[in-house]
Amino acid sequence: MKPLLKLSHISYSYHTPYGEIPSLKDVSFDIKNDEFLAIVGPSGCGKSTLLNIIAGLTQPEKGSIQFENPDGSLNYPTIGYMLQRDELLPWRSIMENVTLGLEIHHTLNKQTKKEALLLLRKYGLDSFKDAKPGELSGGMRQRAALIRTLMLYPKVLLLDEPFSALDYQTRLSVADDIGHIIKKERKTAVLVTHDLSEAITLADRIVVLGRRPATVKRIMEIHLTKEEDIPLSARNAKEFPLYFNELWKELNQNE
Ligand code: ADP
Ligand code: MG
Repeated sequence: MKPLLKLSHISYSYHTPYGEIPSLKDVSFDIKNDEFLAIVGPSGCGKSTLLNIIAGLTQPEKGSIQFENPDGSLNYPTIGYMLQRDELLPWRSIMENVTLGLEIHHTLNKQTKKEALLLLRKYGLDSFKDAKPGELSGGMRQRAALIRTLMLYPKVLLLDEPFSALDYQTRLSVADDIGHIIKKERKTAVLVTHDLSEAITLADRIVVLGRRPATVKRIMEIHLTKEEDIPLSARNAKEFPLYFNELWKELNQNE
């Protein structure tokens, strides 16, 4: 896999009335085309800041991001962003929520509506297309939020702790569910999480960040032997506890 995005020596500080808060220090890593990359690190270390920089919402103070689109296009890869809360609008139906971005971009037409319906059908939400978000479970809402993001055809999906508002049991299956959809749609994904198990089960590679200002402590490739491709099978893989221990040690090492 070739790198789609190449982060080189990124540093960033917040400037507040009380002084400077250095958040990222000399962060370099690649995001390969079609890979699922997870970023883990202690709370407050700078993970969300880093995602905002990858999204182009925040400019790095030092360093740069190079990109190389596989189709040769010269524009920065299109970004889809998913946050902790699903941010569905409660007064709009699921269909109207899923097509919200299209409406904003003035690209809602017969064809794109049909595509939205196809995605809802593919991922089991078509019978809820006229329901309001409040009538759906947390997991279904998160799936609807993902479909809404997918409708804008992002090349890269950025996910900032997207499951942390869900209760533990729901989170396990929703993470699996969302992971499957992202793989199936062949998206490049960057997931920020503080849940190590989640990172191991979903990611091809994990970037471990240290305490603020975040530096890259380690990049770990994940290869799990899965017995069957069923939900939660990744957690039963024999390599799972080994990766977990490695990551745990890495994060709890004194610096
Ligand atoms: P994480 O997502 O890893 O929890 P963040 O990237 O949100 O961390 O924040 C990194 C650090 O920068 C934190 O210590 C936080 O307090 C600080 N920070 C975040 N946003 C701002 C801001 N807008 N102004 C000042 N400091 C901020
Ligand atoms: Mg954060």
